[in-house]
Amino acid sequence: MRLPVPGALRNINSYLLKGQDGWAVIDAGPNLPGCREKWETAMEDLGIQFSDIKQILITHGHIDHVGLAGWLQEQTGAAVFMSETEYRNAFYPEETEQAGSLFFREGMLSLGITAKEIEKLTAIVKFITEIAEPWPQVQFLQNNSLQMGDRTWEVVLTTGHTNAHVCLFNREEGLLLSGDQILPTISTVIRFPTTADDNPLGQYLESITRLAQLKPSRIMPAHGEPFNDMDARIEQLFHHHQERLQIIMDCLSGEPCSVRTVVNQLFGAELDEFNLFLATGEVTAHLLMLHSQGKAQVSQDPSTGLYMFSLA
Ligand SMILES: [Zn+2]
Repeated sequence: MRLPVPGALRNINSYLLKGQDGWAVIDAGPNLPGCREKWETAMEDLGIQFSDIKQILITHGHIDHVGLAGWLQEQTGAAVFMSETEYRNAFYPEETEQAGSLFFREGMLSLGITAKEIEKLTAIVKFITEIAEPWPQVQFLQNNSLQMGDRTWEVVLTTGHTNAHVCLFNREEGLLLSGDQILPTISTVIRFPTTADDNPLGQYLESITRLAQLKPSRIMPAHGEPFNDMDARIEQLFHHHQERLQIIMDCLSGEPCSVRTVVNQLFGAELDEFNLFLATGEVTAHLLMLHSQGKAQVSQDPSTGLYMFSLA
């Protein structure tokens, strides 16, 4: 089932799996105008009741996936499953966790996002969190396999897009429900790094390599069309990130650069706040990958507080 989302993604796919003991849903979709009606129409089209849905699995905590889970649970009475790590990260973290994290105010300032931009971003995050309410009652995934829609699914935990993103693999038929971890045409957003030692891009590439080793024959992503050639897609993604790493190394060939300087060089200085946030996370992740490979070094400028990157 396809639900509309704003921005470049355009749609999110919810998957409905039919089983003898009821239906299972993979990802509930966003709590945006029109989406509840889409669910109601889908139930009519399938000729089933909401109460026929017995299980809801949320691949990860982004609101286009989890946003309607609470509402759908109210309608269906279904069990909602999520990874525990992912669930804890999807809520507002405690103040103590915010301190020292690049993801929050001081951290973002050190990447070159201005106080005024952070203010606008905070308002966006607040809006995003509010439209995800009500939150579902969640059961944490305990086992590494799950019975859904008369198939056995192996739970494959992946990182890099979020901290603990669940993919599901059915070995008999080679089916992979890949969530956002691997998408057919756009490159997955790499999560915002939390410290200068973090390496989410490295984690992402390690995770998709593990997915490729499963040798899936049919990949069903959360955005875009299902596809079959996993190896070709993995190769494209490695190539894309390799190219971007090279461009960023070229940026570092002169004076030491702040993250914002690299962001402006790559994406221009005219990004809106939300895209600035995504671009900053993306560029920081690439810079930290170079740092982990020993190709770049980083130090914090004592006078400005900015992290400055240069070639090693
Ligand atoms: Zn996502």
